[in-house]
Amino acid sequence: MAKITTPRPVRGTQDIFGDFERRFTHVAETFERVRRLYCFSRVEVPVFESTAVFARSLGETTDVVSKEMYSFEDRGGDSLTLRPEFTAGIARAYLTEGWQQYAPLKLATHGPVFRYERPQKGRYRQFHQIDAEVIGAAEPMADVELLAMADQLLKELGIADGVTLQLNTLGDAATRDAWRAALVEHFDSHRGELSEDSLKRLDKNPMRILDSKDPRDRPIADSAPGIDSFLTAEAADFFAAVTSGLDAAGVAWTRNDRLVRGLDYYRHTAFEFVTDRLGAQGTVLAGGRYDGLIESLGGPATPGVGWAAGIERLAMLLEEPEAPRAAVCVIPREGGADAAAMTLLQDLRAAGAVADMAYRGNLKRRMAKADAQGASMVALVGADGAVTAKLLASGKQVDLASEDRDAFLHAATLYSDGIADSDVEGDSVLEEMIGEWRQGLWQVSDDE
Ligand code: ATP
Ligand code: MG
Repeated sequence: MAKITTPRPVRGTQDIFGDFERRFTHVAETFERVRRLYCFSRVEVPVFESTAVFARSLGETTDVVSKEMYSFEDRGGDSLTLRPEFTAGIARAYLTEGWQQYAPLKLATHGPVFRYERPQKGRYRQFHQIDAEVIGAAEPMADVELLAMADQLLKELGIADGVTLQLNTLGDAATRDAWRAALVEHFDSHRGELSEDSLKRLDKNPMRILDSKDPRDRPIADSAPGIDSFLTAEAADFFAAVTSGLDAAGVAWTRNDRLVRGLDYYRHTAFEFVTDRLGAQGTVLAGGRYDGLIESLGGPATPGVGWAAGIERLAMLLEEPEAPRAAVCVIPREGGADAAAMTLLQDLRAAGAVADMAYRGNLKRRMAKADAQGASMVALVGADGAVTAKLLASGKQVDLASEDRDAFLHAATLYSDGIADSDVEGDSVLEEMIGEWRQGLWQVSDDE
């Protein structure tokens, strides 16, 4: 028989497991917790959309649409695209699902996104984003709230120290037109020195030259006129409201008057949280106000502001999260004890304790597994159903009387909570609980 070769993973995809999985999950869970604190509703949108959703929202001249989309024809002949980001799909849903009635709407989501890019550290073809949007709010407080949420997220992840919020305004339509004309004039006078890519941008999307990474473009971009002298009074007021809101919220920021978002409908606030700890992939979270996006999808004029962050990039910055531990490892201590052990194991889990069973090998090997799991307690179960609880840190043992079972289950849940928030430490919990239980000091009530 011909040897079967195992298919390779697709370039730029990742299988996430072990240490990196713990970091990844920690980012997603922290985001879920923080978005609730800010009263953002969770939303799920499809992984694929009609290609037009992204082509119109993002614009044909953007890198994403012109060279990074995974577009394909499905079996029915429709052109579909795997989402390269969330905002466009959420804006489409806002219109087609009639969510206008809920405006202003605060939405959050996370999941996989797809871009055909050259894979490298921190840059993948399938990666994952967390995303937050406020649709239908023109007030600068919406921008402040989103930035405060991003700031709190980074703080709770413990990575805020190495990360800086760079903030800019792109002004309103009049500001932007005037600034754009000045930029074109400036870049035009340096045509000979610009990179080929930037020469193309000069015709189609000149503001993008400002965030070119090509060293040939940098001096010209750095000497380009800033936006401030073109700001209308209204645009200046909006920016002042955002910055004083950030100061009031205790969010540190620095001005970067070169920072742009590529699309014509971006207005006012533009921002990036950047770090120098990830080499060239230093932007961890980015966003801005996109007051024209919904119109580009055929909807009514609707303001919007949002941000997205790469989960992988945030995960790479984290301290290593603790490996998961079991509170209790149940061990059948002899042949014939499996059934009683299984009953106890399920009682523990039903009570909310983090519990596992070691059933392979001799007793020594089973104990070694409990150790390897970092279990706080072992429950040794005999064929007759008798349970001995052993505290692994001290080696103390308690033979449980049958009426101690509820106290034991409760103690196990405390050890489990302790693992989660490291509040409960030491060996005393089990003994105290059983001691108090035996003295009738407290009851585990069924009606809680
Ligand atoms: P970059 O300049 O790094 O290409 P971008 O401007 O394309 O970023 P956005 O479209 O603003 O990025 O996406 C928001 C965030 O998603 C980025 O700040 C980054 O954290 C993450 N991100 C973007 N592209 C990738 C990728 N290919 N792999 C991993 N993360 C990515
Ligand atoms: Mg990119």
